[in-house]
Amino acid sequence: MTVSQLAKSIAESPTLKLNEEARLLREKGEAVVHLGAGEPKNKAPIAAILSSAAKLNTGDIKYTPTDGIPSLKKAIVKYTEENYDRIVAPENIIISGGAKQSVFNVLYSIINPQDEVIILAPYWVSYPEMVKMVYGVPVIVRPEDGSFYPRMEDILKAVSSYTKAIIVNSPNNPSGVMYPEQFIADIVEYCEKKGIYVIMDDIYHKLVFDGKIWPSPYKFTKKDVESTHVIVINGVSKLYGMTGFRIGWAISNRNLVTIMSNVQGQITSCTSVILQAAAEGALTGLQSAIESLRLTLENNRNVMMQELNSFSGVKTVKPDGTYYCLPDFRAYSNDSVKLSELLLKKALVVAVPGKEFGMEGHLRLSYAGSIKDITEGVARIKWALDPSSPNEIYIGDRKLVRDWL
Ligand code: PMP
Repeated sequence: MTVSQLAKSIAESPTLKLNEEARLLREKGEAVVHLGAGEPKNKAPIAAILSSAAKLNTGDIKYTPTDGIPSLKKAIVKYTEENYDRIVAPENIIISGGAKQSVFNVLYSIINPQDEVIILAPYWVSYPEMVKMVYGVPVIVRPEDGSFYPRMEDILKAVSSYTKAIIVNSPNNPSGVMYPEQFIADIVEYCEKKGIYVIMDDIYHKLVFDGKIWPSPYKFTKKDVESTHVIVINGVSKLYGMTGFRIGWAISNRNLVTIMSNVQGQITSCTSVILQAAAEGALTGLQSAIESLRLTLENNRNVMMQELNSFSGVKTVKPDGTYYCLPDFRAYSNDSVKLSELLLKKALVVAVPGKEFGMEGHLRLSYAGSIKDITEGVARIKWALDPSSPNEIYIGDRKLVRDWL
């Protein structure tokens, strides 16, 4: 069998792979603790369920306009006005199969072969692969000081005449940090001046802790939505815990939205009307689900920090938001893939290797699960790695003895 060079060069999503490995282990009855999850445990908001069920009950389940149903677009217009302080038209919006497809549509529609896209490390695993899928060149920018905060000076060094776009994800997956407002202001201002697209992946924008305030990127441009180079990506997956509904959207100028609709129209036609109805329900229904998720995550983040801080050798940066943190395990190993394999095999804990996010020596730990997952998960990691911890542990009713340190 021959497959294309390009397809062959695309890596499997490590997070989806680990999800599958954990699922298979659980099916075998193993007591796996999943600290790799990119989704919370909550049920979908009732308004989303009722709205999609009502649509389903009509039995009238057909294609929708490629860029999405008008009533969902209307809800997104309102959402954007309320959360971004920006009035956009329905023609500025395209709804896709998750924010993942929205990011891909944008890249497919703006990148020529060899165009460069700047990606800020640590980054979401899919960005570099998606850039490669459209024959672009991912240019990774790492803060030289080893922190999780990008610096304009490092970005300026990476910009070339081929730079077409910069992807900004704040609050950030995997580090959990939110970039300073001044950085967002600087990057937007710079990109507007240079005519570089700044793709704002805002998928976690309301899951922010400690009273911090997420700034709308539109705040830093005087240009209107038709002329700005700011492209906004958002969706219902993370804020409403509706990952399985697969609805995301992009906001941009009308021309680009038309191009993206042409592209999407040839690939998926549209997203399911049932799922669009669910997203509309979520956006127009009671918004308390987001605050309740945010509070749960903030409390979970606190417990995760407390547990990790008692782990000598592990360095942590306190997340400002999201579901994740990215502790530094280099005191134990520089090879995060091997570390993650060891933890899954010996301690039945899922932790995603930092290497996949451009931060070798780190592990991404999710606190989107239960408090018990967090405390038990970190206790098992400690047992597996820290020679000063007791060398026996109970996993379920099995006693395990550490014999590899
Ligand atoms: N962007 C980031 C930064 C993410 O973490 C994710 C999900 N892991 C997505 C986009 C994709 O979200 P969706 O489920 O809407 O495709």
